[in-house]
Amino acid sequence: MSRSRKKNSREKSLSWATIAGVLLIMAAAALYLVPDLPERLDSLLDFARPEREEMVEEAPEVKEEAREPRPEEEISDPFEEREENDQEAPEDEDQVGDEAQAESAESAAVPGQESGDREDLKVISDGDYLLALVTKETTLKRNYVPTDLEAVPARLNPYYPMQLRSEALRHLEKLWEAARDDGVALSIRSAYRSYQTQKELFRDYVSRHGEAEANRFSARPGQSEHQLGTTVDFGGTGADFTAAFADTKQGRWLAANAHRYGFAKSYPAGKEHITGYIYEPWHYRYIGVERAGEWKASGLTLKEYLQQQPQQYE
Ligand SMILES: [Zn+2]
Repeated sequence: MSRSRKKNSREKSLSWATIAGVLLIMAAAALYLVPDLPERLDSLLDFARPEREEMVEEAPEVKEEAREPRPEEEISDPFEEREENDQEAPEDEDQVGDEAQAESAESAAVPGQESGDREDLKVISDGDYLLALVTKETTLKRNYVPTDLEAVPARLNPYYPMQLRSEALRHLEKLWEAARDDGVALSIRSAYRSYQTQKELFRDYVSRHGEAEANRFSARPGQSEHQLGTTVDFGGTGADFTAAFADTKQGRWLAANAHRYGFAKSYPAGKEHITGYIYEPWHYRYIGVERAGEWKASGLTLKEYLQQQPQQYE
């Protein structure tokens, strides 16, 4: 009796071992045949996580690296940058002997690969023009510096000392206060950037991400709306500089209200083929209250809207 019970239990454990073995082999075979099985299972689980799904849809190409805090934060003193820029200005004048040589001199001074200097670029004649088209097909002059830059006051929570043009700053203050009154705490991650700062920033991104990738989330010098002194990167969330910023209290408030204070979101979701840039729900440019209202009502990207406005090139 006891012997047969023993035999019985040995048989039982044998059959359990067989089942376990077969399961293991099946799992191994499944993994071998479908190497990305864990990811597939994970994506199946995404149905239970609609927020994440949505985020991935909006910015499918934002890589993890691109979500790292940008070195903008490392740029601690824009006033110092101004000085550097001022020092560079006379150099430029030396290089640029006459109008005809201007373009080649500029290309020679800054390698085309990094500067984006191309002969087909339209040179914006007036950076002060609020509706100036600033895209990958245009360039601001290297020495364009707005003349009415003012320091962004500390009460607006700038991450470091930064500047904005006077009219844009007045409206930013109104926007910031309206957000605060609605219980939304905004901070300012970036504002005016000189040509020189943008050049260094872009060069840094290229060295870390490669040129093709850098080109998707950062502007080349002369092509940044930040050089206009009217453009702001908002923050104050745990999702700053990521597509997920759009789903924060701050991102939602800005999307619904920024135009009332003259600010337009330059790089919306799913429009990289038009704007040339990935989704940047934190990046807003001041174009005036009336114009921003028109832009909002048009449903166009800012680039398309500005293309319909009068533009002057050199
Ligand atoms: Zn920006």
